[in-house]
Amino acid sequence: MFAKYYAKGCGLFKEEKMLFRMDFIPKDGIGPEDAEARIQYFLLALRENGQILEDFELIQNRRYAAVFASYSRKHLDPVWDSEDAVRHRAELLRDFDLKLTALGKSPLRAKACTCKRRWLVMSTYCDDRDSPLICGDCGRAVPLCELALSEDDLGEVRAWQQNFRAVHRLWINGLSERWAEKQLTDVNSALNRQGLQIAKALKQKLGMLVCCEIFSPDENQTHFACPVCGKPMIWKCGEPSEMVCEFCALCYEN
Ligand SMILES: [Zn+2]
Ligand SMILES: [Zn+2]
Repeated sequence: MFAKYYAKGCGLFKEEKMLFRMDFIPKDGIGPEDAEARIQYFLLALRENGQILEDFELIQNRRYAAVFASYSRKHLDPVWDSEDAVRHRAELLRDFDLKLTALGKSPLRAKACTCKRRWLVMSTYCDDRDSPLICGDCGRAVPLCELALSEDDLGEVRAWQQNFRAVHRLWINGLSERWAEKQLTDVNSALNRQGLQIAKALKQKLGMLVCCEIFSPDENQTHFACPVCGKPMIWKCGEPSEMVCEFCALCYEN
């Protein structure tokens, strides 16, 4: 069981995180009655858009403040806001000034991708809130907010991420193991059909190669032929390297 766990680095290789505190300072000194709900909606929108990673803690001590992780201060800038975040930020700013303070780096860190030209791998093993889109060259997470995805696309990517992680966890924990393994490894499973469909749609929308990584329980197995179209897979040297079928938008870690 632990071999399975470590094989995919679950929970070990997290992305670089900075911890921040955001203070919500009421312009009239008191703040509106629905302050808490409005702050929560704003923070949830940032989280959905990958600007806030994992969960946030809301603190109330005379006024509201939130503590959360992000990749960097840059990623909390309004230019990265999704449509939802733009709306909730505008509502908040009517009554509040926002003050952002960097608290320091999380000790579990590896840097987010800064490559200029990218191709993306849909792969998610670490946690529910890190980006499930990994740079095919450097292997680091590409913050979702940098991709300016629509609300619908964000929702679909997040749904696939949750489905994948739920099935992967069943497999690791040995529950419904055969069913879970088939979902993870069979390119025609409901899980992988969902992933491949999203990868193809993103490829078209983003104008860059996006592949859904199909799970292979045997690390030493090399996939030479695409299991969907039967054509030879192309080896792409990255970190990690991948066997790729660009046409079907799928890849295997190699
Ligand atoms: Zn990169
Ligand atoms: Zn193919």
